[in-house]
Amino acid sequence: MRDVTVLGIASEIFPLIKTGGLADVAGALPVALADEGVRVTTLVPGYPSVLAGLAGVESLRHFTELFGGPARILRGRAGGLDLLAIDAPHLYARPGSPYIGPDGRDWPDNAQRFAALGAVAASLAVGEGNGVAPDIVHAHDWQAGLALAYLHHHARRPGTVFTAHNLAFQGNYPPSLMAELGLPASDFAIDGVEFYGNLSFLKAGLFYADRITTVSPTYAAEIRTPQGGMGFDGLLRTRAALLSGILNGIDETVWNPATDPHIAARFSTARPGRRSINKEALQSRLGLATTPGALLFGVISRITWQKGLDLLLANLPGLLGLGAQLALLGSGEPGLEDAIAEAAAAHPGQVAAVIGYDEALAHQIQAGVDALLIPSRFEPCGLTQLCGLRYGALPVVARVGGLADTVIDANEAALAAGTGSGVQFAPVTQEMLAVAIQRTASLWREPATWRRLQRNAMRTDVSWRRPAARYVALYRALITERAH
Ligand code: ADP
Repeated sequence: MRDVTVLGIASEIFPLIKTGGLADVAGALPVALADEGVRVTTLVPGYPSVLAGLAGVESLRHFTELFGGPARILRGRAGGLDLLAIDAPHLYARPGSPYIGPDGRDWPDNAQRFAALGAVAASLAVGEGNGVAPDIVHAHDWQAGLALAYLHHHARRPGTVFTAHNLAFQGNYPPSLMAELGLPASDFAIDGVEFYGNLSFLKAGLFYADRITTVSPTYAAEIRTPQGGMGFDGLLRTRAALLSGILNGIDETVWNPATDPHIAARFSTARPGRRSINKEALQSRLGLATTPGALLFGVISRITWQKGLDLLLANLPGLLGLGAQLALLGSGEPGLEDAIAEAAAAHPGQVAAVIGYDEALAHQIQAGVDALLIPSRFEPCGLTQLCGLRYGALPVVARVGGLADTVIDANEAALAAGTGSGVQFAPVTQEMLAVAIQRTASLWREPATWRRLQRNAMRTDVSWRRPAARYVALYRALITERAH
């Protein structure tokens, strides 16, 4: 079989720019697909960190006018990835977050910034002025959604796949922008980019894609319901035959406890006992009491309503009453950040909170905590629980989305069968989280059981192998379909 070529489109990509799981997926999936005969080149905005990280740069194309200024398309490599970057200083030469300005609000021209991403992608995909013309265009999340609206107007275009990593982020803008963004007025319709009176980049992706994927089978089912669809459930029910859920994997070279450069003691399933060194190092670093017997819970998360950390705060007295500790790393909504920082200040030695983004500390928490708390109200896939499994930090998770699909609850039947890799709870309420924390503490009091669960967790396949094979099958089926 001949190689398949894919033009990926993503607004963030590890290791150059990351705010969440999207970057991890955009950075790891191409590497996994390369082993399967799929060559992915990913188009990304040329933020300062992207341009600084590109090696072997050559200029591929020039736009004299791209939403208010000139742009160059640069081809280069970084971290084993083939990349195309849009060097357009008027749109992307801004420090910090790719989406949010120093005032904490979205950049006022985000519609233009990500329309530019879509417009360049569409132009490259149909082979204008260069030789990119791929078999498949694979767009990720709302920032890439408009590419599929632009492509729709080309008679000869590649097959298109849109992956929804989180329907909560929609890219909705006033309809008055249609003309400025180069979209015909007729596209502002139910059968087009219109979404409850707005122009929606996410709707463009979900409506125009030849195939839609999302990042877990359970989320693929949840988003077809009014409760989980965020307004798109009707459209997704209509397009259900084209929608599938493919779990994410994690990059096992970045997340490998046997080689991890960030942690005090490397370990593996053969030597899980060495985790205790990491636990003590973490407790010391964060100012927690270095009590080996205390059950240490960890959190690594965006601090938002989605992640349910308010439910965790409400459970703090109960958690501490069990003699447990909590180590939290995250950033997000200021009100919730403050509440977490106050809780840490009120319980020195028992609760530690680091507000911020810290890649190395994330690794140290995975390697040092006994259990990882993830009480998300919804979770399309979730990556932290996959890392937790690999590092033997037992995930204690809400039974939603990808959390439901990747963690096996250590209930009586699972314990009897020798399976189980964590704890699940449902519904996602303060009360049921309390029960889950108590269940985790009971399991902790039985060291042999805990060790077995930890071994099961660490042996779980969280690699990209199976997901990559599913994407390849999807791409090839679409190519075959479009050839007829
Ligand atoms: P989401 O994409 O919704 O934020 P995921 O679980 O899919 O959630 O992915 C989160 C990714 O970001 C994981 O790789 C996690 O380790 C990382 N992460 C989240 N918050 C932080 C933080 N404060 N510091 C370092 N890494 C973080």
